[in-house]
Amino acid sequence: MFPRVILKGTMFKKSQQKKRTSPCNYKERFFVLDTQDLKYSERRPGKKPMVKGCIELHRIKCVEIVCSDVPIPCNYKYPFQVFHDNHYLYIFAPDNDCRQRWVRALKEETKSNSLVAKYHPNFWMDGKWRCCLQTEKLATGCHVYDPVGYGLPHDVGQRMVIALQDYTPLGDDDLPLLKDQEYILINSSHTDWWTGKEGAFMVRDSRQAGVYTVSVFTKAPGSNGEKNPRVKHYQIRQTETEEISFYLAEKYLFSTIPELIHYHQHNAAGLITRLRRPVSKDGGQWEVDPEELILGQELGSGQFGLVLEGRWKDIKVAVKMIREECMSDEEFKEEAKVMMKLSHCKLVQLYGVCTQRSPMCLVFEFMENGCLSEYLRARKGRLSQDMMLGMCLDVSEGMAYLESSNFIHRDLAARNCLVSKNNEVKVSDFGMTRFVLDDQYTSSQCSKFPVKWSAPEVIKYCKFSSKSDVWSFGVLMWEVYNEGRLPYENRTNAEVVESLSSGLRLLKPRLAPDSVHLLMEWCWKEKPEDRPSFALLLHELASLSDL
Ligand code: ADP
Repeated sequence: MFPRVILKGTMFKKSQQKKRTSPCNYKERFFVLDTQDLKYSERRPGKKPMVKGCIELHRIKCVEIVCSDVPIPCNYKYPFQVFHDNHYLYIFAPDNDCRQRWVRALKEETKSNSLVAKYHPNFWMDGKWRCCLQTEKLATGCHVYDPVGYGLPHDVGQRMVIALQDYTPLGDDDLPLLKDQEYILINSSHTDWWTGKEGAFMVRDSRQAGVYTVSVFTKAPGSNGEKNPRVKHYQIRQTETEEISFYLAEKYLFSTIPELIHYHQHNAAGLITRLRRPVSKDGGQWEVDPEELILGQELGSGQFGLVLEGRWKDIKVAVKMIREECMSDEEFKEEAKVMMKLSHCKLVQLYGVCTQRSPMCLVFEFMENGCLSEYLRARKGRLSQDMMLGMCLDVSEGMAYLESSNFIHRDLAARNCLVSKNNEVKVSDFGMTRFVLDDQYTSSQCSKFPVKWSAPEVIKYCKFSSKSDVWSFGVLMWEVYNEGRLPYENRTNAEVVESLSSGLRLLKPRLAPDSVHLLMEWCWKEKPEDRPSFALLLHELASLSDL
């Protein structure tokens, strides 16, 4: 009897990493589920599809969605898992409906198999299960597996919760809450049952004098498998060595609490979730108190004025002093609130704005290794292929985040990226050109306009988009693989515009492999819609780095 096809479609799959050393990558595959197997193949235009994997259905022990709290580095964002033999296959569907169809169909076909009693609702990643923190990949699951139901159960029962902030009722149906008081939750079917969102956190005094606790709100499944919204508390501990360090999760030590918090805002590192959003009492957190800001030596100067080293609440920061005639102040103050909400480990974080001081200043995360173009030039001849690809990957990650936040950079270039103490590259100065008052900079006809990094539609009609950022990213990749050389070194802006319109492009850098050069050329397609998105670039670069 021939097998009958049940479902087919394109999805992404993560490499199964059957050996510890095998690479982690995400590939687009065409999946076919029939009454016998789950098969996936590679489809290339003009070529025969090539079968890359086949799992006999009777080998499958569990199929379930994955509840994840980490960003997903491929285009499709709805993961589910197929546990077969001793391997976990993670598949990413384009939307929730599609995922639901696949999980339902696979469960239906495998319901009479010998199935697991318990499964892991979150990913296996970096040597541990994100749900229960067990470090053995084949460790028994932490959540009861339901071979017919879909997703996670909604029954919740009664739970204790702690108020993270005072709440004054807005209507008759509201309950007043007092910070730090415990409440019993009897119905959480409405997921926004309190004002918090995943990763909302605060640092508070704990009951013990002199000890601080970090309380964080999460909806991630707990170790007993329950998926209830709850508040988790972590005590900030101190080492007993001579030089005191603070930590939440053992391995990550910091000399100050703000540094510790800042780290965990970007990395869960043992916590149930990273600390995503501070819960503030007044919402005016973007204003930096000038009393708390200590200014130090000069780091450099930019288009807005001097950049100084500084300290703010015991963290090292970079402070941009804004010369008055350089920036449209009022507009910027509004936008700063938006920019502060952008938070990603590959973006240089804006901590706040100090408007009570003249000149106004902006307080940023400190980047020990300065700007990327200088960094490249200083290491000329000593940069490995891995390092160069890693830099492009870092920038594409930061930009994919901006793209997904619908935020346009407008001035992406190596000079606007900075390098951290651990040599990570982060994107800086996003959106700032909108506040420059210097005409020489803002008009594409003028000398300071970054013509050599600009897409044709920007030069012609000032039409900025994430796709014009993609063009600039291509030039940035070119700068990386030319070790910080300036693009079109001996040509004027006018000459560059002319050669672009006759279809010429920057030449392949000597150090760039063909695969990377192809990506650059893709970024420099005349029509914005023909260029890849940052999400796709990130995916492509990630798969190159795994080769
Ligand atoms: P602008 O945006 O005003 O043109 P830049 O961002 O180019 O200013 O900054 C000028 C110089 O100051 C940079 O080349 C770099 O050396 C230094 N700098 C800027 N921001 C930081 C930072 N966050 N950490 C460390 N150094 C910085």
